Amino acid sequence: LSFTCYEEQMGQISDLLCAVNALHWDARTYMPPRGAAIRGIQIATLKGLARDIATGDGFRAALDTAWDEADRAGPDDFRRHAVEQTRREVDILRRLPKSLIVEAAELGARAEAAWVQARQDDDFDGFAPFLERTVALRRQWAEAIGYADHPYDALIGQYEPGMTLARLKTLYASLQAGLLPLIERARNLPKPRLDILHGLFPIPQQKAFSTAMAARMGYDFSRGRLDDTVHPFEISFGRTDVRITGRFRERWLPSGFFGVWHEAGHGMYEQGIAPALGRSIFATDLAGLYAVGGASFGMHESQSRLWENRVGRSPQFWAMHFGALQATFPEQLKGVDADTFWRAVNHTEPGLIRVEADELTYDLHVMFRTELEAALVTGDLKVRDLPDAWAERVQRDLGLKVPNHQGGVLQDVHWSSGMLGSFPTYTLGNVMSSQLFKAAGAESDVAAGLEAGDYAPLAAWLGTHVHRHGRSLTPDEILQRATGTALDPCPYLADLTRKVDQLA
Ligand code: ZN
Repeated sequence: LSFTCYEEQMGQISDLLCAVNALHWDARTYMPPRGAAIRGIQIATLKGLARDIATGDGFRAALDTAWDEADRAGPDDFRRHAVEQTRREVDILRRLPKSLIVEAAELGARAEAAWVQARQDDDFDGFAPFLERTVALRRQWAEAIGYADHPYDALIGQYEPGMTLARLKTLYASLQAGLLPLIERARNLPKPRLDILHGLFPIPQQKAFSTAMAARMGYDFSRGRLDDTVHPFEISFGRTDVRITGRFRERWLPSGFFGVWHEAGHGMYEQGIAPALGRSIFATDLAGLYAVGGASFGMHESQSRLWENRVGRSPQFWAMHFGALQATFPEQLKGVDADTFWRAVNHTEPGLIRVEADELTYDLHVMFRTELEAALVTGDLKVRDLPDAWAERVQRDLGLKVPNHQGGVLQDVHWSSGMLGSFPTYTLGNVMSSQLFKAAGAESDVAAGLEAGDYAPLAAWLGTHVHRHGRSLTPDEILQRATGTALDPCPYLADLTRKVDQLA
């Protein structure tokens, strides 16, 4: 009975945080513009209530009695694991003073508005004071949470438990060594026919094709739905209601369907959490006050990238499904064949903008952002010197000149919203996606399914090895059990090498 008391309070925290997600979803889809101010207050209130329960005396007492029961049950009992994980995360919440949380929330709202304006005016100086304050505050945040080696470790750890700057440096060195010669080779690839992607593609038909394929991949529309938004995202209100959003452009075909499959990959992860983990610590990021079942941001991104890139950008995929796309747009794609189309959606060319980057150059954008933000946090890099440092890295890594701040240091929302430490999770997701895809593909039914356009075996493999565990395993544990190895960039580099070979 004592464990039930803890479980019930944990369930209430989960309910509040799922309600926060519902409010966020609405704010980014259907909320009228003037709803923003009161919505911000409502969200802050609900999160505050969740935090009050989690750090309150009642929950502490419930955890103590739950521990007595779990302790008697033995070292491998799931209840013991649940109490330990809950205590660890409550401990982090307790270390962050309420004043710091309130200031971060207020600053985030103002800094994001200032960033929107500064980006529009290409005015870095207008944004710099907000960024200075944000960096100082995140440094305090890192000190409050605590770290062993580098303050940046405390910030990454919020998004990717177990990750450190030192581990990232090792990973990045291998990636850089592999990617640079590939990018060099890609410069000499034949130019694909990009004009075929720029016809007029009515959005209802784009949606029909995107959602039919997402359902075929395994996203369950009876436990989810697709809505329109400006910046696509996935969000969960519990495993039986996991929403995805998309943005479609009439004159640029690939961004719509790749975006939907990316978000569907996130959605399938949340839909695949074991039912027994619902409303528990294993479906809640308690320290981050966020209802999510995925083990980390990086592991989440591994699922979206896997469906978007490993499956959706493969030659097998288009050999199988280009006919359906052509039947959807018979006029626009007249005379185009599957191979021509596959080459067009795999076009490689270094650019200034991270979110538009191709697979080969994407991680270079992430790697230099990581180094710059780590240097900002320690104070080795001053905010006023950031644009020059940025330009230097873009010149060195991508061979490009940065013409303005919009195409440079003001392009991403992350620093304005205080998310220092989250960029690395994109690259971690890429790396993990290839490790998991390789391990899954070693199963004969998965490999046969991929050739035949039957994605059920792959989805089932991911469900068994990744999704159902929720947050009961760390990202490192999931990788080790699912693939037999720790984090390893080799499968990812092998996938990209194979792609360049095929495009040549
Ligand atoms: Zn994503």
